[in-house]
Amino acid sequence: MKNATIAKRDEFLVFALPLIEDDEIEEVVKTLKSGWLGSGPKVAQFEEDFKQYKDADYAVALSSCTAALHLSLIAAGITAGDEVITTPLTFCATVNAIIHAGGTPVLADIDPHTLNIDPKEILKKVTSKTKAIIPVHFAGRACEMDEIMDIAKQHKLIVIEDCAHAIETEYKNQKAGNIGDFGCFSFYVTKNIVTGEGGMVLTPNKDYASRIKTLGLHGMTKDAWKRFGDDGYKHYQVVECGFKYNMMDLQASIGIHQLKKVDKYWDRREEIWFRYLEELKNLPITLPMATANDTKHGYHLFTVLLEKEKCGYSRDEFIEELKNYNIGIGVHYMSIPEHPYYQDTFGWKPESTPHAMNAGRNILSLPLSAKLTDQDVSDVINAIRSILDHA
Ligand SMILES: *Cc1c(COP(=O)(O)O)cnc(C)c1O
Repeated sequence: MKNATIAKRDEFLVFALPLIEDDEIEEVVKTLKSGWLGSGPKVAQFEEDFKQYKDADYAVALSSCTAALHLSLIAAGITAGDEVITTPLTFCATVNAIIHAGGTPVLADIDPHTLNIDPKEILKKVTSKTKAIIPVHFAGRACEMDEIMDIAKQHKLIVIEDCAHAIETEYKNQKAGNIGDFGCFSFYVTKNIVTGEGGMVLTPNKDYASRIKTLGLHGMTKDAWKRFGDDGYKHYQVVECGFKYNMMDLQASIGIHQLKKVDKYWDRREEIWFRYLEELKNLPITLPMATANDTKHGYHLFTVLLEKEKCGYSRDEFIEELKNYNIGIGVHYMSIPEHPYYQDTFGWKPESTPHAMNAGRNILSLPLSAKLTDQDVSDVINAIRSILDHA
């Protein structure tokens, strides 16, 4: 079916705009008027709500998922010389957190179909120095957690799930972030629910949770944030050299209301997901594979793969074409070894993890926000069909 040339949208469709509604706005205003902007009762409530939503034992809110990963690694005891295995198809934060904790990152290639870290590749990378694995539930698709947990058990490794894409993700009736020793979440502006900047750690281990809480606020004794409260001033003690990673009540005010709508937003993204699958099928591009039966997809990123030999456009040429239609996209991600820092520091080459290299060079994320209107989604679909018709 040939489409007529499609008119360009009037306004640029910004990739991953968050949906912010009146309840968040009113809560933020209330918090501003209360005068308690920093870490306080709203953060405590957001932690409690998130813990319940995820059926987790302990939750600690932090300033970002990067902070959550960093403190999880420290709580796990990662120090100089320890190797931590992760995926090359992730945001740089995953790898940087390992380096900041003093560990040595080791990359295990992805499965080219799921785009998740391949347990067989993890096994090849395990050495006597390996201490932890950070699987990333890429795009919201659950990793092969049974295999990963088996490897971890066999080799006595800590598992830190990078759940930045996986707020709603489930694997065999377990919620992502509850399967390993730590689960790290992001509420950054492009994520499934947002607080602007923000993150959360889940853990089943009370000592880990307590250590992370302390490390997140300068290493001051727990509840130091209450020192200016109406119970009167309380002395605190610094018990280790921590970080300034606490979440603010201003952020939690947004998160509390975003979390109430997490299922509604997921339903909307699922609707868009299946429209894309249906209306982009039979085109010479690769769509996301079907979700495994016993899992729930988080629907964070709808990624397509573009190969010039098949569709006539390289990924970057296709981005330019979409820009002409006023459609904004994302790239998640150029594989980690494409970046000069890692090449210079570790001698990594993209070719060493070829599946992640290929995916990273061909991948494109389409808009998938709950804020999209049906017309926005039609505009994306029509633009893609039109571009490929004219190839
Ligand atoms: C966004 C993201 C992070 C970092 O999250 P922040 O909250 O921005 O620190 C980490 N890992 C992955 C896979 C991400 O997508």
